[in-house]
Amino acid sequence: MREVEENQPPYTGKICCIGAGYVGGPTMAMVALKTGLTVTVVDLNKQRIDAWNSDRLPIYEPGLEEVVKQTRGKNLFFSTDVEAAVRDAAIIFVSVNTPTKEYGFGKGRAADLTYWEGAARSISKATVPGSALFQGFKIVVEKSTVPVSTADAMTCVLQENCPAGVHFQVLSNPEFLAEGTAIADLTQPDRVLIGGSMSKEGIMAIEALASVYAHWVPRERIVKSNVWSAELSKLVANAFLAQRISSVNALSELCEATGADIDHVASAIGSDPGIGPKFLKCGPGFGGSCFQKDILNLVYLCQSAGLTDVAEYWLQVIRMNDHQKRRFGKLIVDTMFNTINDKKIAVLGFAFKADTGDTRESPAIDICGTMLNENAKVTVFDPEVTEDQVLQFRDLDYRRIFDTMCKPAFIFDGRNILDHDQLQSIGFRIQGLGKPKTLEIVSGS
Ligand code: ADP
Repeated sequence: MREVEENQPPYTGKICCIGAGYVGGPTMAMVALKTGLTVTVVDLNKQRIDAWNSDRLPIYEPGLEEVVKQTRGKNLFFSTDVEAAVRDAAIIFVSVNTPTKEYGFGKGRAADLTYWEGAARSISKATVPGSALFQGFKIVVEKSTVPVSTADAMTCVLQENCPAGVHFQVLSNPEFLAEGTAIADLTQPDRVLIGGSMSKEGIMAIEALASVYAHWVPRERIVKSNVWSAELSKLVANAFLAQRISSVNALSELCEATGADIDHVASAIGSDPGIGPKFLKCGPGFGGSCFQKDILNLVYLCQSAGLTDVAEYWLQVIRMNDHQKRRFGKLIVDTMFNTINDKKIAVLGFAFKADTGDTRESPAIDICGTMLNENAKVTVFDPEVTEDQVLQFRDLDYRRIFDTMCKPAFIFDGRNILDHDQLQSIGFRIQGLGKPKTLEIVSGS
C-alpha cells in the first residue's frame, strides 16, 4: 500500500453523490468546502433537490446552512440528473436509504437493498464510453450503512451491466457522523475508514479516496482496511453506542426503585477511563434511523451465520429500548392517578434528539401513541420545526406556565435537562427518569 500512497497523484476529478439525505447532503457540502473539487449531489426526489437549492434546506443541522451558502453554485451542485453527474465523475458516493426490510426473507431485520441496487444500476447505465474514469476505473463508495459483503454484490451488478473494458472498484467508507453534530463531526472526524479490495487496483482506489479526505483530515486518522471489516465496523459502532444507552436506561429503572440517582451513578462510573463519560445519559429510549436498523442488521447477520446466542445478546439491546419507551409512557399514566383521559398534555420536543429535526424512530412517537391510546389531548412542540422558533426548553417561563396549568401540575422530564429543585419550589410535581421517585405521595402507588 505504501508504494501506491507515495507515487499516486491526488484525485482532482469531479465527485458525484447519489442520495441527498441526512448523510449525503452534509457530507458532500463538507467535501466541497474542504477540497474545492466539483461535487454534484443527485437524488430522484425532485422536492428534496429543490429544497437543497432553496433558502430552506430539507434538513436541519447546526452550521450546515453556512457551509452550503459558501459552496452552492460554486463547486457544490444539487440536481436530479443522475446520469450526467455519474458520467462526469470518477468517484461516486452512494448514500441512499437502506431501511429494514418489511417483506420476505429477513423481514423486520435484514436491510432492504432495493435503493442500493437501483443506484448501482443507474451507475452502470450512465457509464458509457467516454465517461470519467480514474486510472481506467470508476470508484463507487458505499456511504450508506449496508450489510457485510454488499460491496461484492454491487461489484457484480456494476461489472455485468457496463460497457466492455470499464472496471469498477467498490469501496466501503461508512459515515460515523451523528445527527445534530454532523458539521462538527465532519470538520474534525475521529477517523475516516476506507475499506476496499487488497488488489493493486483496490489499493489505488482506496488511495484516491484517501487523497480527497487528506485535504483536511490528518493522514493518521484515515484508516484503511479490507472491505468486510469496514462494512462490519459501522454496524458494530452503532450497536455499541446503542448498547450503552440501553445499559444506562436499564439502570435508570433500578435507580428509581432503590432511591439512587442515575446522573450520580453515570458521573461516578464515567470517570473510569475504561468506561468514559459519553453516552451515559439516560432518556426515554434511543431513536433515529440507524441504531435499531443497524442492530437488527447485525442480528440478522449473526442468525444467518448460525450464531444464535450472539444474535440474542444484541437483540436484548432493542428489547430494553422498547421497554424504556413503554415504561416512560406508563409512568406518566400511573402518576396522573391512572387516568389521562381528556387531560391536556404538552410534549416539548418530538425529534429523536436535540439539534435535529429528524423524527425517524423517535421515542416521542411511541410515548405520544401511548398517551393518545389513553385518550389524552396531546399538543406537540418541537423547536426545529422551523429554525426561527429555536428555544431551549430549559429557559421557558415555568412560573407563568405553572399559573396556567391544572393542579397538581406535572412535569415528566425524559431527558433530565430541567432544574428539578427550582421547578419543585414553584410548585410543580416533577419526575425525571432514573431519579428517586418524588411523586409517590401523589400517585399513592
Ligand atoms: P440517510 O439518512 O441515510 O441519508 P435518507 O433517507 O435521508 O437517508 O436519504 C436517502 C436519499 O436517497 C433519499 O432522498 C432518496 O430519494 C435517495 N435515493 C434512493 N434511491 C435512489 C436512487 N436510485 N437514485 C437517486 N437517489 C436515490
